Amino acid sequence: RQAGTAVHEDLFQVDSPNVVYTDSEIRSKYTYRTTSVKKNGNGKYVATPKETNYDFKVDRQVPKVGMMLVGWGGNNGTTVTAGIIANRRNLVWETREGPRAANYYGSVIMGSTMKLGTEAETNKDVNIPFHDVLPMVHPNDLVIGGWDISGMNLADAMDRAAVLEPTLKAQVKKEMTNMVPLPSIYYPDFIAANQEDRADNVIKGTKACTAHIEQIRKDIKDFKATNSLDKVIVLWTANTERYADIIPGVNDTAENLLKAVDDGHEEVSPSTVFAIACILENAPFINGSPQNTFVPGAIELAEKHGAFIGGDDFKSGQTKMKSALVDFLINAGIKLTSIASYNHLGNNDGKNLSSHKQFRSKEISKSNVVDDMVEANSVLYKKGEHPDHTVVIKYMPAVGDNKRALDEYYAEIFLGGHQTISIFNVCEDSLLASPLIIDLVVVAEMMTRIQWRASSTDGVATKDFRGFHSVLSILSYMLKAPLTPPGTPVINALAKQRGALTNIFRACVGLEPESDMTLEHKLF
Ligand code: NAD
Repeated sequence: RQAGTAVHEDLFQVDSPNVVYTDSEIRSKYTYRTTSVKKNGNGKYVATPKETNYDFKVDRQVPKVGMMLVGWGGNNGTTVTAGIIANRRNLVWETREGPRAANYYGSVIMGSTMKLGTEAETNKDVNIPFHDVLPMVHPNDLVIGGWDISGMNLADAMDRAAVLEPTLKAQVKKEMTNMVPLPSIYYPDFIAANQEDRADNVIKGTKACTAHIEQIRKDIKDFKATNSLDKVIVLWTANTERYADIIPGVNDTAENLLKAVDDGHEEVSPSTVFAIACILENAPFINGSPQNTFVPGAIELAEKHGAFIGGDDFKSGQTKMKSALVDFLINAGIKLTSIASYNHLGNNDGKNLSSHKQFRSKEISKSNVVDDMVEANSVLYKKGEHPDHTVVIKYMPAVGDNKRALDEYYAEIFLGGHQTISIFNVCEDSLLASPLIIDLVVVAEMMTRIQWRASSTDGVATKDFRGFHSVLSILSYMLKAPLTPPGTPVINALAKQRGALTNIFRACVGLEPESDMTLEHKLF
């Protein structure tokens, strides 16, 4: 099909004077209701309902999209590629438990539903696949490409990953043999020394330079042209890097960062070079690893160019459980006092993380995930009080990609009692992360087609339509250490993150936020 000609078949239409469908757009008028709180002279809170009127505009043309992965030949890269091919071709393969068919389980967009409303006559809920709330790209239609410092073709790399069943691999092998990653940039100081023997597919030079940015930009342009794509989304699923030091004059502003690249400064990481190239190329860039790719200068550069960025670190196994369980415990009024998290894993990610500096990036990313929930409960926790929290990761080759995550949650309950919850979570790592890659790409792409303008009750208005902020915090549900626009709060609680994603998409078609009041069943 020609680029940009796909017409989306809507599963539903909204019948409201506030929602207008044209051939190319859905336009909605939406009233966003919040509560503004002030303290009065007596020190009492005064809560005032506030309304802001938004116009949303959604482009209905589903574009032809390319997904380029940095670290394409890794466990996640090969698994998501095989998974999309298997879905595209409706593959079925034998396992010792009988035949299994391709699916998108684990993807919130492809595998979950949301309540559209209640059926007029029966008052029963009508639920629709999440994917159908807006005209989103289907993952089967993504054209896949990318880079890796290892030049192995994707079929061999899939064998190296040791994730998928041989009967599935046999069916995708031929297609994946023809997929070979583009050479990438490799600055040995940023990833573990134990990765060096993989690096046989590298662009010349071991420090950031403008030529590297130009090469990545050219790769994106060429991929787009060769495959007649409308858009390319780039996602970092390469090894975890060490943290880059934030140095005034080097990576603190957009201008300094570009100059630092030009000067070949050693504190500019490969992932930041990819981010810069994508920002300049206006290709949304998402970081699936924990390192601080988005140094302040990179964020400023994205804002300047109105380019989308998102990160950091896929939230797949242990942390996903944590951000659901802690949300539940603290909202149940139970005082969580410690979390001890142990992991062991035997894949290449684990090997890389066995090096201290790279482990440190992961430790930081995993450490702040309960902060917002603790801070929100001033009944259980005094200002500044925190549960103890520790994270340990060990490399254990024998368990391969089947990471073990052991967590102990220790809590104080009524009148000095205790509750201890122990979790042993076997996370088939790449099979959990691959659907998140799909969600991140599909949602990021969707965000490039949504525009808004506002007028509020206090008179503030925006005249022209514009896009969302460059930092896509709407992706938080899929990410362990969500990046948010500078100065805005980080939300880690899983239910809130899902609520934001669902309700922003609903607003774009003029639907009220999902409400669990169900008054229709309570007020007979
Ligand atoms: P992996 O080691 O199997 O794959 C990483 C790939 O990146 C390798 O093929 C490596 O050769 C390549 N690479 C390294 N540096 C590169 C560079 N500069 N340019 C291009 N390619 C480069 O790891 P994985 O299991 O696929 O995980 C990928 C990343 O995702 C890791 O950083 C990991 O911490 C992160 N992550 C994974 C999960 C999960 O559940 N699988 C969860 C959160 C975060």
